[in-house]
Amino acid sequence: MFDLLLRRARLVDDTLTDIAIKAGKIAALGEINGPAVKTIDLRGEHYVSAGWIDSHVHCYPNSPIYHDEPDSVGINTGVTTVIDAGSTGADDVDDFYAITREAATDVYALLNVSRVGLIAQNELANMANIDANAVHDAIKRHPNFIVGLKARMSSSVVGENGITPLERAKAIQKANGDLPLMVHIGNNPPNLDEIAELLTSGDIITHCYNGKPNRILAPGGELRASVARAIARGVRLDVGHGSASFSFAVAKQAISLGILPQTISSDIYCRNRIDGPVRSLANVMSKFLAIGLSLQQVIACVTDHAAAGLRLKHKGRLAVGLDADLTIFDLRRQSVLFTDVENDSLQAEQLLTPLAAIRAGKGYLTEQGSAEHAFDL
Ligand SMILES: [Zn+2]
Repeated sequence: MFDLLLRRARLVDDTLTDIAIKAGKIAALGEINGPAVKTIDLRGEHYVSAGWIDSHVHCYPNSPIYHDEPDSVGINTGVTTVIDAGSTGADDVDDFYAITREAATDVYALLNVSRVGLIAQNELANMANIDANAVHDAIKRHPNFIVGLKARMSSSVVGENGITPLERAKAIQKANGDLPLMVHIGNNPPNLDEIAELLTSGDIITHCYNGKPNRILAPGGELRASVARAIARGVRLDVGHGSASFSFAVAKQAISLGILPQTISSDIYCRNRIDGPVRSLANVMSKFLAIGLSLQQVIACVTDHAAAGLRLKHKGRLAVGLDADLTIFDLRRQSVLFTDVENDSLQAEQLLTPLAAIRAGKGYLTEQGSAEHAFDL
């Protein structure tokens, strides 16, 4: 007896499948004849993918600058898993962890290498805040919650310290099992070339399509040589849209050169969720459809690529035995005018519309899903 059986779910390759769930895991795929406690027939009308994973959010409610509630950026918007990118360092991660246990969304953290986390904009301006022992102890306390490290390498954050905080972060990473390190790029110094040369396979550059002078493109529009070498070494590109870090012009030019993002993420928190320009992960994903990525490419960036980048082995794919995390959504014909952070706009004709999320087998309708009574979960 299955707990839940979704019948005739449309996958992003447009094939139909049934999906059976038991004890929070995917129990069977293909043509399934039950029995199940609950059966929902999607009649091929709605898409289903592995649960969406947002690789870069801010959802520590007690953060003084970039705060939000995990479920407001997660399950309520069809996102089953969020990775908070450095809102907390070693000092506050225990508090953050306790709060996330109450959430329906599955929450993980990239620990800020600065022990104070994002309590101010300049967490790496004082080198004393980079305390290797404090990081090590925090990872020991939360081995299943802390999935990597975060270092924000832009001028307002590092103050007079230049590239030194990143050198320290790389040493800390090495001493802690080579966890993924996400590096935020923004205004220089430090120069992006200096940053890129230090990064190694599995490291993640977030805000990869920012429009600041420290962008991944050289003035002539070609990819910077240092970034090309980093990508060749296995460094990953993450979107991290945010309030100040996404340019349509840079994204279009990079994508035309074949420089695709590994992961599409929002860098969402309450202010850019409510006032824009982020609004939701679905909104950011829809921008990439408008730029020209296929539905399959966009969904891969928030499912299997995201799980691979953050080493969430039990997520990101539809396969028997993996977490029963699913997103049910439509791709609607709808005229939308998108904006980036450079006051540039892009006309789009389709919008990804999440209707529900299933997290560890339990169903949650989004606002849209419940307003439309699309199905009963
Ligand atoms: Zn961020």
